[in-house]
Amino acid sequence: MTFASGSGGNSALVWNAGTRILVDAGISATRITAALAAVGAVPAALDAVLVTHGHTDHTAGLPILLKRTSAQVWTSGGTASEICPKCPEDRVRVIAPGSALRFGTMTVRSFETPHDSAGSTGFVISEDGGASLAFVTDLGRVTAEVRRAALGVSAAILESNHDLDMLRAGPYPWPLKRRVGGDFGHLSNEAAGQFARELAEAGAKCLLLAHLSETNNTPETARRAVAAALGDAAGSVTLSVAPAGECSEIFEI
Ligand SMILES: [Zn+2]
Ligand SMILES: [Zn+2]
Repeated sequence: MTFASGSGGNSALVWNAGTRILVDAGISATRITAALAAVGAVPAALDAVLVTHGHTDHTAGLPILLKRTSAQVWTSGGTASEICPKCPEDRVRVIAPGSALRFGTMTVRSFETPHDSAGSTGFVISEDGGASLAFVTDLGRVTAEVRRAALGVSAAILESNHDLDMLRAGPYPWPLKRRVGGDFGHLSNEAAGQFARELAEAGAKCLLLAHLSETNNTPETARRAVAAALGDAAGSVTLSVAPAGECSEIFEI
């Protein structure tokens, strides 16, 4: 379930009967606490807080959230140095790309993502003998490493940030257009569509499009582009779009 998704803030909860993992805390601790309450959880019951990278839309709520939970923050070395001024150093632990961590009955693996933030990371969270979920957001392109890590998961939260034509014709100044559309920026609908097809062909059954730009995309544009790219595979995949400023539905995978 995503609590928020996009440049205004990102946070999501992955949970089963015994384990609760928060991924990113880019909205206020108050909003995260309210979203947790809606599914019967509290910050103090979190097993881990994973952080993909240091941008504010993924970390804004961390300092206050850490006062409400004793869960550790797990992130890459690059992101750890970036967030440590905001977060107590003894609360931040480093997960090396490719390594695995256990929380309750879940395993977390991280992988590097090409983004303009030091140590930007994606995660695959899998349940013992069960489903697996990849977080693939905030990346300029799908690299061999992203493919290696994410192909084969049963579900993915996949960035579908902008429509290329809307970005080109839109109001952003040229340097920002170049950053967003560049190799270390954000995935376009077209790129998301291509990777969605690869994920579906590798067995993914549930795709949640995320981190949509509110300026250079619309939920309908993103969904249409990715559904078209899925082609024949569309019938076997549940395709949804994560709302920007509110909680998504709960996806059972
Ligand atoms: Zn970012
Ligand atoms: Zn972001």
